[in-house]
Amino acid sequence: MPQPDFFIDIDGVLCDGPNLIKGGPESLSFLRSQSSRFLLVTNTTRMSASDIEYKLTGIGYKISSEEIFPVSQATVEYVNSRYGHARCFLIGDESLDSLFQSHGHTVTRNEEPVDAVIVGQAQWSHFGEIDIARRLVEAGAEPVAMHKDPTWPDGGITRIGLGPIVAALQSTIARTITLIGKPEITFFETALARAGYPRSNTIMIGDSPQTDIAGATSAGLRTLQVRTGNGSGTSPNNCDWILDSIADLPHWYRSNFKH
Ligand SMILES: [Mg+2]
Repeated sequence: MPQPDFFIDIDGVLCDGPNLIKGGPESLSFLRSQSSRFLLVTNTTRMSASDIEYKLTGIGYKISSEEIFPVSQATVEYVNSRYGHARCFLIGDESLDSLFQSHGHTVTRNEEPVDAVIVGQAQWSHFGEIDIARRLVEAGAEPVAMHKDPTWPDGGITRIGLGPIVAALQSTIARTITLIGKPEITFFETALARAGYPRSNTIMIGDSPQTDIAGATSAGLRTLQVRTGNGSGTSPNNCDWILDSIADLPHWYRSNFKH
């Protein structure tokens, strides 16, 4: 079997909130030593690829921003392809403003005519944003959400994700919200196109049975689940392989792909 390429989730696989998951850096180094390519794919909406590079480097990973594909980037590329330059009402972290502006989009946090309402995550959200977003969608703007994950692991506690905010907006509008991130098949298609990996040779490593494993399976990828993060306490469920953690990757790789 040829050397596989990998998509690797970040939260719950490589780190748990601010903390390193033991063995992660060694496993990525191992993949490099085997000439297996990888792209880190994440539903994180509150950090740019550079921010994520800074965080991961700070806890011991050797990684560059070109090896990271966050859903915020996938979202801005979707808006580019659909509208060229768009007027966007943003919900979510302030870092999204500069990302969208850097692609030529006009960004507002006020109630004014827009082409799209973009929903990302912030540390705090409030009813006023959803109230404005509903009216803008009713006036014709496309509702676009980066994902609808219900929760995410943050250093020993579980926080709510973007899902509850997306559900709140969806409950007030007739139009179906466009979803961008995992587990949407288009996210995996975009990532495959960006990375240039053959679908049949790509393995998704993730902790979330729904977001990572089910999504990648639908997109025709093979899947490896880890039992850290959202995967703690889960048993094998339609994944091709399951490991206790990313630390076990080299042993698993040698068993399956050694020539
Ligand atoms: Mg995860």
